[in-house]
Amino acid sequence: MFKRYVLLDRDGTIIVDKHYLHDPDEVELLPQAAEGLKRMQGMGFGLAVLTNQSGIGRGYYDKDSVLACNQRMIELLAAQGVMIDGVFFCPHEPKAGCDCRKPKPGLMQRAATELDFDPSQAFMIGDKSADIGLGRKTGATTILVRTGKGAQQEAKCGHRADHVCDDLFAAALFIESCL
Ligand SMILES: [Mg+2]
Ligand SMILES: [Zn+2]
Repeated sequence: MFKRYVLLDRDGTIIVDKHYLHDPDEVELLPQAAEGLKRMQGMGFGLAVLTNQSGIGRGYYDKDSVLACNQRMIELLAAQGVMIDGVFFCPHEPKAGCDCRKPKPGLMQRAATELDFDPSQAFMIGDKSADIGLGRKTGATTILVRTGKGAQQEAKCGHRADHVCDDLFAAALFIESCL
């Protein structure tokens, strides 16, 4: 029996979406994020983050800045009892045509291989169309949160998501209702 996973977008879903974030001191958890993740963890889910970081490919910041921001997020969550099993990011700019920029399935496939889970048994949560697209493509149950760009994206992709809700705590309650 595989452990089930919740895959999460980073910017606008777990932490405040700051345009091309690259300074770890600027990392700020969204309200209810740690509470929601803790509840998912309590249901037995593993947690991993899938994030597009095209700022690297565009030359706005380097890979170390992304790693530092990821690490800061992990520490802030750990301080509230949340364990993140992995963070996977796409460093490419859109025109690179890679297979890992969401909604392409590469990041999900890497996470599934590394962490040993079945994407079709997973939940994918994010604030953008690309997150919902990735989830649908890989058979995951998709949740659009209204944090970050989510409220704006709802008209565009809310109908493609399996569920739309305000934040990660509400997402945790939805997941609970699916079990
Ligand atoms: Mg986002
Ligand atoms: Zn990529």
